[in-house]
Amino acid sequence: MAARVLANHFEKVTLLERDAEIDERQPRKGVPQGRQFHALLTSGLGILAGYFPGFIEELSADGVDSLAFPEELRWFQYGSWKNRAPCDLVIYPEARVRLEGRLRARVRKLRGVKIQTGSKVEALEFDCEQVTGVRLTQDGRAESISADLIVDASGRGSQIVKWLRAAGYPAPPCETMEVDMVSVTRIYWKTAGIRDWKAIGVHPLPALARGGHLFPLDAERWIVTLFGYLGEHPPADPEGFLLFARTLSTPDLYEAIASAVPAGEIVRSRYSRQTRHRFDRVERFPAGLLLIGDAMCSFDPVFGQGMSVACKEARALDQLLGLQKPNAILWKDYFRRCRSILNLPWMLTLCEGLRFPRMKGRRTLKIRFLQWYTGHLFSLSATNPQVCGAFLKVLHLEAAEPVLFHPAIVMRVLLRALRGWSAAPPPLSYEPMRRPSKYIHDLTPDTAD
Ligand SMILES: Cc1cc2nc3c(=O)[nH]c(=O)nc-3n(C[C@H](O)[C@H](O)[C@H](O)COP(=O)(O)OP(=O)(O)OC[C@H]3O[C@@H](n4cnc5c(N)ncnc54)[C@H](O)[C@@H]3O)c2cc1C
Repeated sequence: MAARVLANHFEKVTLLERDAEIDERQPRKGVPQGRQFHALLTSGLGILAGYFPGFIEELSADGVDSLAFPEELRWFQYGSWKNRAPCDLVIYPEARVRLEGRLRARVRKLRGVKIQTGSKVEALEFDCEQVTGVRLTQDGRAESISADLIVDASGRGSQIVKWLRAAGYPAPPCETMEVDMVSVTRIYWKTAGIRDWKAIGVHPLPALARGGHLFPLDAERWIVTLFGYLGEHPPADPEGFLLFARTLSTPDLYEAIASAVPAGEIVRSRYSRQTRHRFDRVERFPAGLLLIGDAMCSFDPVFGQGMSVACKEARALDQLLGLQKPNAILWKDYFRRCRSILNLPWMLTLCEGLRFPRMKGRRTLKIRFLQWYTGHLFSLSATNPQVCGAFLKVLHLEAAEPVLFHPAIVMRVLLRALRGWSAAPPPLSYEPMRRPSKYIHDLTPDTAD
């Protein structure tokens, strides 16, 4: 996406990619999360389709089935199923590798854009307060490339903070939440039968830091992911996978896969912490450098926000470059715009993560209030289509927080609280059914990262 928007403003754009070999059918080394299911939220899909006209039509033509939220998704959250009245949110679930392949094919066709693989960026080059290029290793040879603007899109492992510090710039404040999350994914052949859903989601509870989801991967297969936080990690062996699925707060996901035939091995992935580098708070930063995507902020993946946030940041960059040529203070405006993009998804993940009693982090008054308020919203969204629609639009980053504070919604929350159904947030602690004791106490030891 960064390459796409830069092509609007520069004659020549070079996309430097460390991976030398890119097989369009296989996950690659540089994106290990590519082996896990990725959902592109409605907001991200809309932006992407705007920059790559015909993208959605291409998905449909290739047989990628749409999934309408919430009517085709059975979503169990905090003890109740979400209301399933339509609210115009559609995603197109498909494997991350295929999504990435589609985008790469489109980027390759852009005028002035070159994808250079096997190029590992090793350092930034500076001239006074300006980044003028990068040093890289290309097929084992050291090289340099100069550029008017460098955009770091190297993901969670970005070295930019280290490089900036080495050049005498202050490190940005860094916010983190140690989620200690492990997810395991397995593909299954769909079972025969008529069902009123295409996907199932089971959200964790504060007292049960584990959940799972099942999405269609294509016409014949489902992709199932189980996840757990703070040591409640799902095992990666076939028996443990199923037993863990049975321990979720509703047995529906387990029942869907219990008799399904696996179509692949179990793939495990660890996500230790979510991190936000607060470049919007730095006083000094070089001209000619920006960041995008996970390099700036990476979220707990369970919420599926990362790619959509990156799309929003790319659009913000495009808009800014349309207003001004890269200059010494472009970074200030860009990071300010990114702040307003990032605040909502960051707060959402903090609020949810901090519901787990063992999660470390400051439970500020704002967070406690939002947990109380959204706790009521979650319960209301089981029965009230307006509340459910507003909540889902915010979750898909299609709408901003004020939508949740619409007077009609505030009234409903207050009424619910006043009626004494619950002065505290709704059923957040819940003893799940059919929880085999083996996986309550005997959790698989976990050392890999
Ligand atoms: C398990 C898991 C599940 C997820 N599920 C979802 C989901 O459902 N929906 C969603 O929106 N997001 C999801 N995410 C988040 C999503 O993967 C990221 O937000 C997104 O990929 C970020 O894109 P990026 O371009 O910033 O980084 P990446 O996609 O990580 O890409 C970074 C690229 O930079 C290259 N690179 C790295 N270092 C260098 C270097 N020195 N020189 C040259 N190239 C380099 C890498 O090879 C790679 O190609 C998930 C993440 C995880 C971990």
